[in-house]
Amino acid sequence: MHEPDAAIGALRERLAQAASVCVLTGAGMSAESGIPTFRDALTGLWSRFDPAQLASEAGFRADPALVWDWYAERRAGVLAAEPNPGHRALADFARRRPGVLTVVTQNVDDLHQRAGNRRAIRLHGDILRDRWLESCPRDCDPAQATPGRPPRCADCGNLLRPGVVWFGEMLPAGALEAAEVAARGCDVMLVVGTSGAVWPAAGLAALARRAGAYVAILNPADSEIDADAHLCLRGTAATLLPGLLG
Ligand code: NAD
Repeated sequence: MHEPDAAIGALRERLAQAASVCVLTGAGMSAESGIPTFRDALTGLWSRFDPAQLASEAGFRADPALVWDWYAERRAGVLAAEPNPGHRALADFARRRPGVLTVVTQNVDDLHQRAGNRRAIRLHGDILRDRWLESCPRDCDPAQATPGRPPRCADCGNLLRPGVVWFGEMLPAGALEAAEVAARGCDVMLVVGTSGAVWPAAGLAALARRAGAYVAILNPADSEIDADAHLCLRGTAATLLPGLLG
């Protein structure tokens, strides 16, 4: 159900007046760029696999080629995608109002960055940047890995893995802390395209609200954190953000 125009107008006004805006984005942010959400990514060829199997260290160790191939397909999709009007609206807002916007993303694609939001806080890593599975005592260069599924180090046999945060792993050092600072300090938080099922990212909306922010969720469907928001707008990132931030 669509919220009345009055609620959208009031949110627009809040955003225009805010000294600090934090936008938490999830996979839905990039859906209209053609990058499948987590649920969509497990359809078709991959539908018989469990996400925890494909996106976990245990899954990778059990079948490195399978997991490598899944990420190779997703990486190709990211490279072929372009930022959508939602990414561009956020980047335009940041340009027009320097220092006001902090984007915190769970996405491992680079579409916020390519739209112009180079300082987005990335909670779950970067699918375009591989790293070694084991820490390497010889400091071997991942760029020198011998091609394969996955590529490996010709010297020590170490395997390359995608530079994303898998289930059960720690977030990149400093990223969660920076996101919490942004959530606690903002006047308005927008939560765009996230199911709210992945923690600790899902907790940022409640944190912002407790600290006094107005919280609005933008999502065509219900999310698990709708109760943390003052307002839920049922629509897509690319259709809602340009109107709210323009
Ligand atoms: P999710 O897949 O669990 O949920 C996606 C959410 O987006 C759903 O609530 C859905 O209703 C909503 N949605 C779908 N289309 C939308 C649109 N056009 N506009 C706005 N919302 C839309 O995603 P999540 O909450 O981000 O959590 C899943 C995890 O998967 C994250 O950790 C993320 O790192 C990872 N992931 C990332 C990408 C990416 O980088 N683009 C893609 C898939 C999964």
